[in-house]
Amino acid sequence: MRQYDVVIVGGGMAGLTAGIYAARAGKKVLVLEAKVYGGQIVNTLNIENWPGDFRVSGADLIKKVKKQAVELGVNFEYDEVVNIAKEENKFRIITIENEYLALAVIIATGTEPRKLSNKQTKDAGERPISYCATCDGALYKDKAVVVVGSGNTAKHEMEYLEGICAKVYHIHHDDPIPKDAEAVFVAIGRVPMTKIFESLVDLNKDGYIVAGEDCLTSCVGVFVAGDCRTKSVRQLVTAAADGAVAGENAVKYLNR
Ligand SMILES: Cc1cc2nc3c(=O)[nH]c(=O)nc-3n(C[C@H](O)[C@H](O)[C@H](O)COP(=O)(O)OP(=O)(O)OC[C@H]3O[C@@H](n4cnc5c(N)ncnc54)[C@H](O)[C@@H]3O)c2cc1C
Repeated sequence: MRQYDVVIVGGGMAGLTAGIYAARAGKKVLVLEAKVYGGQIVNTLNIENWPGDFRVSGADLIKKVKKQAVELGVNFEYDEVVNIAKEENKFRIITIENEYLALAVIIATGTEPRKLSNKQTKDAGERPISYCATCDGALYKDKAVVVVGSGNTAKHEMEYLEGICAKVYHIHHDDPIPKDAEAVFVAIGRVPMTKIFESLVDLNKDGYIVAGEDCLTSCVGVFVAGDCRTKSVRQLVTAAADGAVAGENAVKYLNR
């Protein structure tokens, strides 16, 4: 079984930055990513608040950060972590395909879109459900669609779809889905991807991993970075900042 100094779960901005910091400190680092490097930002076309790179696309930004991590010696695997077990002074990381050992772990699993209620899922029936108008909106050109949600993201999704679709309905969580809508676009917030860690670290009532600016969790040797931790601002710069802090603190822990 392969052993690393640091295994990072999640290859979004937080996980990639943590990898850069730990690798530059001479540690053997593995990033495990279940789906796509970059996580939630990869479909965003114009990021206006990433310092130094005005209106960069999420995909281009992440490509650069990943390249930087690769050049600094970070190892990468596409694999989904399903459990982490603490064993004496090591951690056994169990994925769908493999098992790895790590002396320290950084959790950077971010968030995923909140799913439709059971009632609305039933109501949608066989109709496609999408969580990204930019990704799927073009499939419904000149058709009727519905957006579920009431926040800023729902407003943004509506504006985008109005430029493509013949009719865009707007409904709230748990309202009935209009009969003639051909696809359902969901924008009802996000939830942390932390369920598998509930017996390893403390979570708050909403499922976020409890940690302060130091990115330390309730389990010694386990650090957390990015949107999946308790914090007030969930943005790229704060994910990168957490990655730096978690990476540095993991290195201090290993060098102790
Ligand atoms: C539509 C949209 C637009 C946004 N626009 C901006 C913007 O303009 N500016 C800005 O600053 N921020 C923006 N944000 C917020 C920003 O994207 C996030 O704050 C940031 O990407 C969080 O990074 P992260 O690394 O913490 O998490 P994520 O990006 O969520 O990455 C987590 C990664 O972990 C992986 N993962 C999860 N569970 C597992 C597992 N069990 N095993 C292995 N891998 C796993 C996921 O697949 C994912 O790739 C936007 C977000 C959205 C949704």
